[in-house]
Amino acid sequence: ISQDNIRNFSIIAHIDHGKSTLADRLIEKTGMLTSREMQAQVLDNMDLERERGITIKLKAVRLVYESKDGEKYILNLIDTPGHVDFNYEVSRSLAACEGALLIVDSTQGVEAQTLANVYLALEEDLEIIPVINKIDLPSARTDEVKREIEDVIGIDCEDAPLISAKEGLNIEDVLEAIVNKVPAPTGDPKAPLKALIFDSYYDTYKGVICYIRVVEGTIKAGMEIKMMSTGKTFEVTEVGVNTSKHVVLDELCAGDVGFVTASIKDVKEATVGDTITDKNNPTKEPLSGYKEVVPMVYCGIYPAEGEDFNSVRDALEKLQVNDAALVFEPETSAALGFGFRCGFLGLLHMEIIQERLDREFDLNIIATAPSVIYKIIKNDGKVLEIQNPTDMPPLTEINYMEEPIVKASIMTPTDYVGAIMELCQNKRGTFLNMEYLEEKRVVMHYELPLNEVIYDFFDALKSRTRGYASLDYELKGYEPSNLVKLDILINGESVDAFSLIVHEEKAYERGRTIAERLVDVIPRHQFAIPIQAAVGSKIIARETIRALRKDVLAKCYGGDISRKKKLLEKQKEGKKRMRQIGAVEVPQEAFLTVLKYD
Ligand code: GDP
Ligand code: MG
Repeated sequence: ISQDNIRNFSIIAHIDHGKSTLADRLIEKTGMLTSREMQAQVLDNMDLERERGITIKLKAVRLVYESKDGEKYILNLIDTPGHVDFNYEVSRSLAACEGALLIVDSTQGVEAQTLANVYLALEEDLEIIPVINKIDLPSARTDEVKREIEDVIGIDCEDAPLISAKEGLNIEDVLEAIVNKVPAPTGDPKAPLKALIFDSYYDTYKGVICYIRVVEGTIKAGMEIKMMSTGKTFEVTEVGVNTSKHVVLDELCAGDVGFVTASIKDVKEATVGDTITDKNNPTKEPLSGYKEVVPMVYCGIYPAEGEDFNSVRDALEKLQVNDAALVFEPETSAALGFGFRCGFLGLLHMEIIQERLDREFDLNIIATAPSVIYKIIKNDGKVLEIQNPTDMPPLTEINYMEEPIVKASIMTPTDYVGAIMELCQNKRGTFLNMEYLEEKRVVMHYELPLNEVIYDFFDALKSRTRGYASLDYELKGYEPSNLVKLDILINGESVDAFSLIVHEEKAYERGRTIAERLVDVIPRHQFAIPIQAAVGSKIIARETIRALRKDVLAKCYGGDISRKKKLLEKQKEGKKRMRQIGAVEVPQEAFLTVLKYD
């Protein structure tokens, strides 16, 4: 099949608008899989992802479609993740395409991530094909949503396929639109090799599998290739495409999408966005847009009591093999012992890793509060970048500090504008402007400190707007800020795992909340325990856990013995999950409840 009959496309959508469901239908309708082979949502292949409904890892599938004009086409469907944390990966997978299906849920309309994805697609010069989904639902507002797409995004919706991905209605229209509207790829198959890596993951048998778009030239087994960002070279073992399984081919040419393996041992040597070229006949310039992924959010991860440090390290190493964006290094905490400082793309990425440690490795871990990177400008002019509160130098050495600020767009029905303004103000936000999308929907632009966004912003937004508002953000830069280190003292001893860097204005509120929660979770002892929140040497909040009066067994004195036994066992069980801080036993769950953002 010639280049003219290839179509490379992605599906972009706000979460839950039906991207995965449509992908299933397209795969089904092109007959590449039998329905027996067809698992629900073929493209999302990690369990966790399926449950959360979020695509994390990109994948490409080759479909063969015979169109109404009687010609055969190769359709390469490239899946993209749908969350702000993974925007760079989205942009690289879009760069591998000529077109994108823009799915909009006809009961919801345009949302923050619909727009964010459209901007990314426009940056890559893609042909955008609007597709209106969920028309089977009685609450569908098809005409209104079409008008909204035209007004807000400025693309014509006259011929937009109106579909139900769930019921398989009008899927043929989507396939025809792909064939007729998405441009065929161009590029000289005889030129020096230039291929974009838009996804890579580690496979135990084959090493790293890179998903690539060949932009120029040809790649085949036996060829020596070079990664242009690192200069590392490898010999190609296999090239091929994914249909229902890996299919090995002789070569991939300009315009093709497929995979390549080359005994690469580490995903860090084949990172998303990098350009592959021919070692012996290299291209002059790499493809544009390569970015090193930098973690934005950090937290400490510690083995829970009874859990082994080494097994946590092994698990993190295994996860890292498939996740070039995850970074970690050992650290120690006085309260929690030996653990790791881990860096993530964002909060969702952090939650996914924490959940995978639990589910896939069956590990009990304690995670400290998430933090961002702060810049400290010291009196001697030196600039320090820290993300761990315990690394903060004494106030006397600090000239000033800076924190990262993001530009946020919040889309919402007009009913919630007041509630959102209040929330953003409370989160130290700066209002920029507000635009009407239609009569009853607006987009609000704010600048917000990232440290507030990662705390509980997303949940607060959802609960104040009953789930109707959507959020997208990008880093703007660093700005000076009055930040302080908040310490929590239990029985006079500072507990490093509870320390936080917060804005001066927030210190009291946060300190008091933590102290109050600790009073609830730390059991009474034989003596009274003061819980204090402090900034420097100044105590800003204080609570007391009163001393225990009676023995736990006293109340069943003379009572039946089995109940007594049960109580003792319960106490023993509880003891195992305690952390000793000075003379105080702090239950493990204290670390979880206190750091929970709500
Ligand atoms: P994604 O997050 O964009 O991948 O969305 P999914 O494909 O996972 O779909 C989100 C939810 O919407 C799922 O519960 C789907 O079953 C449902 N859904 C998708 N398409 C349709 C549709 O055409 N009609 C109806 N009624 N539900 C749909
Ligand atoms: Mg999905």
